[in-house]
Amino acid sequence: MNDDLKVLLEEALAQCSQDKRREVDPVGLVHPYETAADREVAALFASCLAYGRVELLRSAITRALAPLGDSPAAYLRAATPGELDSLWPDFTYRMTRGADLRDLATAISATLSREGSLQALYVEGNDGDSPIDDRHRHLRLASGFVRQLRRRRQRTELHRGFRYLLPDPSDGSACKRLHLYFRWMARGPDAVDLGIWEQLAPSALVIPLDTHIEKLCRYLGMLKRKTPDAKAALEVTRQLAVFAPDDPLRYDFALCHLGISKRCIHRYSPRHCPQCPIESACTVANSNRIS
Ligand code: SF4
Repeated sequence: MNDDLKVLLEEALAQCSQDKRREVDPVGLVHPYETAADREVAALFASCLAYGRVELLRSAITRALAPLGDSPAAYLRAATPGELDSLWPDFTYRMTRGADLRDLATAISATLSREGSLQALYVEGNDGDSPIDDRHRHLRLASGFVRQLRRRRQRTELHRGFRYLLPDPSDGSACKRLHLYFRWMARGPDAVDLGIWEQLAPSALVIPLDTHIEKLCRYLGMLKRKTPDAKAALEVTRQLAVFAPDDPLRYDFALCHLGISKRCIHRYSPRHCPQCPIESACTVANSNRIS
């Protein structure tokens, strides 16, 4: 069964037009930046805002990145407190306000001045020189990364909107957007992921467990846990690591875009299911065949 499922996942990957799908994905807004330093910064804004409907979140990311110009890293490295304070006066997107983005921008600005890059902040708590290649160590460093960024915010108080932008993995939630950021940084470079953090190995990543991945993994028998939390994300990641131990998130983009593109509408459909690359392992399609 494992070998069969791996073949189906490979087929899902082969059928996914990654170049085209990237253009409707938040990561498509990061690719136009030319340098690794700018991509690393733009990607953090983009991943933090990657919640809600895809067309709305892409508009929010575009509005968030616009005032930072062609080089967000250079802008934030040089920005004065007064300049940071004037950013996004009218920004709103669901739970996020301009003040939350200013907290994030202030934290990134301080990090670029002190450590030089976001990757350097991430590896600060590492107790060796080798790249981070195990999940336990990665989660510890991920939590330290978030806590440091939170401490470097603009406002005295830690507001809910900023906490929502930057969730701490040690709190037990799936932290989909944070894990998406790490995927973009560690995997690739390829048509989707940016591959600019050499210190984080793809083998250590945790799946960004969104609603599409959660449902599809349940259909494939890869997720039994009822709550879609941090433990569920680890359960799915461990299952996927059986197929690709060095790169457990290999199939993440293709599976996620089965849902985003509405090739899967999350119920049996005689129009969609027979064309689906994972149909023969899908319990939704199988139960329809039996009944
Ligand atoms: S077989 Fe149908 S329900 Fe199952 S994943 Fe594919 S499209 Fe979705």
